[in-house]
Amino acid sequence: MDERIIKVMLVEDDEDDYIITRDLLEEIKHVRYDLHWFNNYDDAMEEIEKGIYDVYIFDYRLGDRTGLDLLRYVNEKGIETPVIILTGQDDYETDVEAMRWGASDYLVKGRIEPPLLERSIRYAIERKKAELKIKRQKDEIARTNQELSTLYSIITAVSSSIDMDSQLDNIIKVFLDEGIIDREDRCGLFLVDGDRLKLVKYYNIPETFVNMHEGLRVGDCLCGYVARTGELLIINDADKDERHKLAYREFGSHGHVIIPLKRGEEVKGVMFLYYKEGVQIKESKKNLFLNLGRQIGIAIDNAELYEKTKELSITDPLTGLANRRLMNSELKRCFQRARRYGRPFSLIMFDIDDFKLYNDTFGHQAGDRLLSQIGSIALKELRSTDLAFRYGGEEFLIILPETKIKDALVVAERLRRTIKTMTRVTISLGVSSYNDDVSEPEQILNQADSALYLAKRSGKDRVEMFCGKGAED
Ligand code: GH3
Ligand code: MG
Ligand code: MG
Repeated sequence: MDERIIKVMLVEDDEDDYIITRDLLEEIKHVRYDLHWFNNYDDAMEEIEKGIYDVYIFDYRLGDRTGLDLLRYVNEKGIETPVIILTGQDDYETDVEAMRWGASDYLVKGRIEPPLLERSIRYAIERKKAELKIKRQKDEIARTNQELSTLYSIITAVSSSIDMDSQLDNIIKVFLDEGIIDREDRCGLFLVDGDRLKLVKYYNIPETFVNMHEGLRVGDCLCGYVARTGELLIINDADKDERHKLAYREFGSHGHVIIPLKRGEEVKGVMFLYYKEGVQIKESKKNLFLNLGRQIGIAIDNAELYEKTKELSITDPLTGLANRRLMNSELKRCFQRARRYGRPFSLIMFDIDDFKLYNDTFGHQAGDRLLSQIGSIALKELRSTDLAFRYGGEEFLIILPETKIKDALVVAERLRRTIKTMTRVTISLGVSSYNDDVSEPEQILNQADSALYLAKRSGKDRVEMFCGKGAED
């Protein structure tokens, strides 16, 4: 005997018919039923909502309503309990209609024997179970498909560009396009920079929020927690989480998803999503968020590497000044502007005096430190529009846009004095300026070099300017 008790709800407005059904169930020996009888439509509706039965048996005729109306109601409410329709008359049309609305069976009163009823109930329950299993599998496939498509969109978006800024813009766009967040939700992206978090991109976030999160540390608040642990956080009410220290009151209650953006184990950044109060974020989304975080983490890492490489190829690592490659293009730009618009510009070329001796005396490493120190001094002494380059081993070049030779000489002299005061070496400097006689940018460069040579020949630790052909030899 099956030990389980099957809970049956019978909606039947005729008491005699109820008694017949009750007796039929009692006659079934090997299964036990717990029968609950309702004799009117309204009470039945209320009970149906509870969803506590294994099977519903609805009489077709229920006063001025029918069992099919109840069946429709069960469907509308999404209640997943099987329904058997009982009818007084065998009617093909009603049978078809009942099946169309998802009834499990259609039984004609007076022709029901206990084994038929037992079998009908058992089939109804088992078939419903199978249907639900298929439905769940279908939903799961649909969800996986949706996740793959979202993931594909992110991968496409981040691989369409290597530039960090446009990548981050693309990421937020995909989150909106794929419906991960709605237009009225908010989100933002922090990058980890040492022990700090830098808010670099955001959507629907006011300036005051940005200011409030400036200098956020790894470990601070929820985003800092994720940056430190690399864990994904899904919080349906952020106000109730005691780690949420930097709550931005004006946003009111909200749900949070905070995604670690990782490459391997390293957390490159954190993406936070705000959801409206009451939106329940399903745990089943966890995998999607983690996978998105992984793709974005890789993209950020690649973009950082790209930026570093780009920077390395234009700056000299020892002094932090721009290198000769950038100098050539800048010189060309200044030259073209000077020629087209008649704007002046000047060059200062300088070289450390007796640097070989310095290296020999204090060692090559000390020499390196001196080069780096001179690079910093040059940067400090110059205006922001002036550009300093490491031209060669211990030679430097400064481009001074919008500067006539007279003013360039003043800058050169100041630089000479500062370096003499602040270091153990002196420098010699040569100054030249754009003039109508030159037709190539290199000529002005050569003129600065000639002036520098003159300064060396004249005793070093001095500034000379290029002044026509005579100075060249
Ligand atoms: P002058 O006053 O005529 O310029 O004499 P100098 O000794 O400075 O000039 P020279 O051209 O004879 O020697 C330049 C020295 O600069 C030799 C070289 O080893 C050193 N040097 C060039 N690049 C570097 C560098 O990156 N690091 C260090 N430590 N030394 C460098
Ligand atoms: Mg030298
Ligand atoms: Mg030299």
